[in-house]
Amino acid sequence: MSCPRVALLVFAATIASAAPLAAQAVPGTRAYVAAQSGWDALRDGRHEAAAEAFALALDLEPRDPSLHLGAGMAAFLLGQTTAARHSLERALALAPSLTPASLLLGDILYRTSDLDGAIRVYEAAAAYAPANSTLAARLEALRREAALHGSFFASQGSRFTVLFEGPSDEALASHAIEVLESAYWRIATALSTYPDQTITVVLYTQEQFRDITRAPQWAAAAYDGRIRIPARGAAANSREFERVLVHELTHALVQGVAPRGLPIWLHEGLAVVFEPDGAGWAQAQLARDTRRLPVGRLTGDFARLSTAEARLAYAQSAAMVRALFEHNGAAAVGALLQDLARGDAFADAFERRFLIAYSAFVESLAR
Ligand SMILES: [Zn+2]
Repeated sequence: MSCPRVALLVFAATIASAAPLAAQAVPGTRAYVAAQSGWDALRDGRHEAAAEAFALALDLEPRDPSLHLGAGMAAFLLGQTTAARHSLERALALAPSLTPASLLLGDILYRTSDLDGAIRVYEAAAAYAPANSTLAARLEALRREAALHGSFFASQGSRFTVLFEGPSDEALASHAIEVLESAYWRIATALSTYPDQTITVVLYTQEQFRDITRAPQWAAAAYDGRIRIPARGAAANSREFERVLVHELTHALVQGVAPRGLPIWLHEGLAVVFEPDGAGWAQAQLARDTRRLPVGRLTGDFARLSTAEARLAYAQSAAMVRALFEHNGAAAVGALLQDLARGDAFADAFERRFLIAYSAFVESLAR
């Protein structure tokens, strides 16, 4: 994944079909009012406010499954995967036919590498909703994937799982896990943020290894929370393979903390800066090429840029992130990500963490 297209498709389907469930509570009651404000907050992206509203409603109506669903969605958007899972399991224990809860729970299990668990959740849900096409399509895709990946390798503590598409290669898997473990601690410590999700890496051993970090057309499909890398011949390109792994790991970690709300330059800039050579190539690129893209072009998808423009875009993004680190430390960027996860607007969170308006920061770059 070079450009994280934060396409939480399942989530979008869930919120669309779940919101009317608020009507289950008795209108006019305090629980009803709290639930309504929870759904409104979810729709507006105020995730922390949503979590508070659903918690209040659940104090009043602890056995209302739709409230557990709302609480689970809010927790998911706040990056609290374990809490989200528990809320959704509770919702389904109370109402096994609550398809939106099954969809989101299955998706969370899939993202945390529990493919069998995800399949079980979807199978149980399909018994209640045999005509639901989203559910049927997800179940079909997961069964295909389960058939494909016979063997897999998990790190100790299972922070990482490596799967193969094509022949498996144990030495490559353990090398990848070693690189990812040490990079995890380096990045998490710098950002003072320790995401606890399991990260799945899929190595395509029949596809020639190449640098996918600046080729946004790779994995053009929606980002589904996995790191996908072509890996045939990777052992002969060890340093480059490590760089690509760490670049993609940063995306996965950032995504784990803040599922949405980031401008692309921040996502890509962090991924480049945390590469093993500390983005030396990006500095060299900017020294060599004095052209600059306007910052406005760095906020959206890089896939529309030409190859030369894309190179510049990645280098400029890295320079912007370095400027942020120098301005107030990398931990402030970690705090910014947590603000975004809570649903704060980017400009507000930026000003709070860097004590300078985003527009003024962008202007300072031009000087
Ligand atoms: Zn990238």
